[in-house]
Amino acid sequence: SRTAIIAGNWKMNYGPQKASEFTMEIMPSLGQLMRSYPRILCLLCPPAISLSSVREVVDAMPAPRIELGAQNMYYEEKGAFTGEIAPAMVKELCTSVILGHSERRTYFGETDELVNKKARAAFAHRLRPIICIGENLEQFESGSTQEVIRTQIQGSLAGFTPEQAARAVIAYEPIWAIGTGKAATAEQAGLVVHFIREQYSEMYGTEAGDAVRILYGGSVTSENIAEFIAHPDIDGALVGGASLKPDFVEIVRKTI
Ligand code: 13P
Repeated sequence: SRTAIIAGNWKMNYGPQKASEFTMEIMPSLGQLMRSYPRILCLLCPPAISLSSVREVVDAMPAPRIELGAQNMYYEEKGAFTGEIAPAMVKELCTSVILGHSERRTYFGETDELVNKKARAAFAHRLRPIICIGENLEQFESGSTQEVIRTQIQGSLAGFTPEQAARAVIAYEPIWAIGTGKAATAEQAGLVVHFIREQYSEMYGTEAGDAVRILYGGSVTSENIAEFIAHPDIDGALVGGASLKPDFVEIVRKTI
């Protein structure tokens, strides 16, 4: 009963010009798919500077449920925060925002506390936060995945209202699977995603736990998406490298 989500995280790739060209390239086939299948939401998440140019192309080639997401934002409303973008600015072009991606946490020092502030700001502006969590290789190998995930959930996903809790999207991205070509198996990922749903249900009740969409991310391609989607707890994917190529459309096709 949960609508699937395929989100393309372009990371730091494609400036306004290239972003516009690529969107024009995929929109005809992507639009056609989206018109035929109502039970999927597709998010394009280019760099902030390219959001306007992608918005223009999507508006010019209308298709249902193709929405834009930002890759990050700040939680303050406005003011002296050089280099940051505010929730209301994101809201002008996007429905969604990726928050707490492992690259933000690793290279830019984002903590659970900061990610949580951003998530609450997203809700306050009716943006859909896609909150990323996941363990690194050392944590995975030492068997502390559940402990790490539990801490991230309790920190990043705290203090939501029941309605917000149901609207949130969680992305489980094991860091060792990101950009490595070594995706988790659907069984591995499914176990952790199930655990996330259980923890979330403990925090917010079974209604929110049943409603929350949980995505898998890490080396997803059109070759392996079907396995992840087949798992009853996995509701879609956050796609990095493969979202920069026409393979993204094939991923959507195989999700349907
Ligand atoms: P890749 O799909 O390139 O492994 O990246 C995953 C990711 O980090 C998406 O947010």
